[in-house]
Amino acid sequence: MNQNDIQNLLDEPACAHNDTGRKTGCARPKPGATQGGCAFDGAQIALLPIADAAHIVHGPIGCAGSSWDARGSVSSGPQLHRLGMTTDLSDVDVIMGRGEKKLFHAIRSAVERYRPQAVFVYATCVPALHGDDIEAVARDASQRWGVPVIPVDGAGFYGTKSLGNRIAGETLYRHVIGTREPAPLPAGFAAPGIQVHDVNLIGEYNIAGEFWRVAPLFDELGLRILCTLSGDARFREVQTMHRAEVNMVVCSKAMLNVARRLQQDYGAPYFEGSFYGIHDTSQALRDFASLLGDTSLSVRTELLILREAARARAALEPWRERLSGKRALIFSGGVKSWSVVSALQDLGMEVVATGTEKSTAEDRARIQELMGERTRMIDDNDQSALIATCRDSGADILIAGGRYLYAALKARLAFLDINHERDFGYAGYDGLIELARQLSLAIDSPVWQRARQQPRWLNGVTATAPALEEV
Ligand code: SF4
Repeated sequence: MNQNDIQNLLDEPACAHNDTGRKTGCARPKPGATQGGCAFDGAQIALLPIADAAHIVHGPIGCAGSSWDARGSVSSGPQLHRLGMTTDLSDVDVIMGRGEKKLFHAIRSAVERYRPQAVFVYATCVPALHGDDIEAVARDASQRWGVPVIPVDGAGFYGTKSLGNRIAGETLYRHVIGTREPAPLPAGFAAPGIQVHDVNLIGEYNIAGEFWRVAPLFDELGLRILCTLSGDARFREVQTMHRAEVNMVVCSKAMLNVARRLQQDYGAPYFEGSFYGIHDTSQALRDFASLLGDTSLSVRTELLILREAARARAALEPWRERLSGKRALIFSGGVKSWSVVSALQDLGMEVVATGTEKSTAEDRARIQELMGERTRMIDDNDQSALIATCRDSGADILIAGGRYLYAALKARLAFLDINHERDFGYAGYDGLIELARQLSLAIDSPVWQRARQQPRWLNGVTATAPALEEV
């Protein structure tokens, strides 16, 4: 990947940063911008859920060790993606120029031991600086072992995690998508008289298996998912993505370039949406029906929404009584900064502020639309400032990524993990019920009553429990 390629990815025309017409592209990374992950990390987490492929990190062990298995994507079949593979480059390998040779042998070892459907090879900073030609090694290995070997040229110093996501998308577009035709429809896939449409979901990672809550709705409507990129994906599914009639971009930042190029080259329109909350799930299904232009599908979609929304509302009633009026502060970037707002509003909760550190201009506009002009948006990821904001706004719970867990607990504040390491899936109508259950368990836990009491050893002393900012 040369400098022009990287610049083109940063200037992605479909990205909201370019919507103003000024074509400013992505902002230059500021010092510390990669604390959430480097470009290699972004590329790897975007592709790692492809479950029947071997994923080899070409670099020092630290690159693989700090990023492996950090995402809670779940596979319904092969588990090969969960094996951490690396060439474990040492300083002696670099001095002796053995990097390419080690990579070749690592590919051979992976192919002979695990028989993967494909091998992804990830460049990292050291071999990129050293000048290892991973494309040539991948080409030779592919010819020698008869397995697709895909070079992912996204060394960490190229930029941020978000750029890495796009490099992953670009790599798939160049090397994988369009190399196979979809299998014929299995007999009995849809009821007689229903026209089946092929669709893709881009940026859906099936965290904690959450997409399995939504997938049956697609089956019922006669929408065949060619590929979810990349949650629970198989390599052969990625190869057929060019045949989808409509694409949904589930996380607005990740791999928007794939959706745009599929539209440009294959005429498949795309939309951005979310499966968090009743409103957004229903809207996503409606958007599919409307872009596919199938009247019968639109009617069936509305009937399905009526049924599912009513069922979810009935199941939510007891939880709504417990959660209504509770206040939440959401600190999560990108699409979750607004999609979770909508889900909480479905539960009658009040969102007092939301984090916008990684949100685009479009994400911010969606937040304002949902929460009004006086919305409090937080850009600063400083933990003490965040906890102070929770206290000032009277938040009952902080909803954020795992790295804020201990700050919240030390401040005796209920916490819910919303990021990719979480153990529960919140997508779809059933996911909202699970979200309500988890929120209620977190806020109403008896531990808070005890933790907020004055400690026994201070009995008789007139001290009060320390203020949150002192903890
Ligand atoms: S690729 Fe570079 S920035 Fe990323 S983890 Fe490895 S050494 Fe660090």
